[in-house]
Amino acid sequence: MSARSTARNVRYRVSSHPDGGLSVSAYCLADCCSWVVLPTAEHEKASQEMCHHTAGTGHALFSRTVQDMAVVTLADPAEDAGAGS
Ligand SMILES: [Zn+2]
Repeated sequence: MSARSTARNVRYRVSSHPDGGLSVSAYCLADCCSWVVLPTAEHEKASQEMCHHTAGTGHALFSRTVQDMAVVTLADPAEDAGAGS
């Protein structure tokens, strides 16, 4: 995934950081329930925790978010000469 933008006439690119990996978090959508899975790289463990929560409460709807680490770099490293001015 990549996106480009221009700020102060310098072009930047946003992409997934190669060392970042993906994390998953989730929270229960049942009224008055504050159960959450904090962001973790262990996707299967997060799914198991959701199953345990459903087994214990009957709550079966969750909002789940998959996140990556993004990095912003110069689209053209030669433009670095004007950065910081
Ligand atoms: Zn719940």
